[in-house]
Amino acid sequence: MLLLMRVLVVEDDDRIAVPLLDGLRRHGFTPTRVTTGAQALQAAETDVVLLDLGLPDVDGIDVCRQLRSRSGVPILVITARGDETDRVIGLEVGADDYMVKPFGFRELVARIRAVQRRVSGSASPVVEPDEQQLGALRIHRRNRRVYVDDIEIALTPKEFDLLALLAEEPGVVVTRQELLESVWDPHWYGPTKTIDVHVATLRKKLGDRGWIETVRGVGLRLGRPS
Ligand code: CA
Repeated sequence: MLLLMRVLVVEDDDRIAVPLLDGLRRHGFTPTRVTTGAQALQAAETDVVLLDLGLPDVDGIDVCRQLRSRSGVPILVITARGDETDRVIGLEVGADDYMVKPFGFRELVARIRAVQRRVSGSASPVVEPDEQQLGALRIHRRNRRVYVDDIEIALTPKEFDLLALLAEEPGVVVTRQELLESVWDPHWYGPTKTIDVHVATLRKKLGDRGWIETVRGVGLRLGRPS
């Protein structure tokens, strides 16, 4: 039921590519990486292409144009260049969307999914199941609603994101750093106390501390209250 989306990452900078690939894997994508335009044009077809414009061998705009001339693969341009001209050119040569560095990881994932949905129409592959039932807990990801025993629980956006992330793999520990990177910001270097505050309110709203278990010194995981 879980369809893995293959993502080609065209990015020469390790500092961007390494965390990007880690994050994509954590979100259920299957990324492969190349570092030059030439490699990008030789790579096997994927479901989505994330394309950096500043490549060492050729201009990313040319790579985009060539990819588009032979394939309908969704292309999401990722670049440090933020001026209007580049945005317009990127879209004119066939990019489906455009993100300027630095960007939040959640925004990237949302855009990949949006681009994929636009391209494939209603029969699109869904990386995560839209509705998830875990004992008394039910999570609707698309409309961002949460129910316990069929009673809707009003969550803030961050509380929902936190719960949804833990629910991606129930019982598996998510580290505090992963939580910060996914729910807050990939470049978060501040105190991690903000997680504790959100977890405390989330537990209260869910009505049982057992839904979210603290694994001391490691992180959090979704539990099953007995
Ligand atoms: Ca680059």
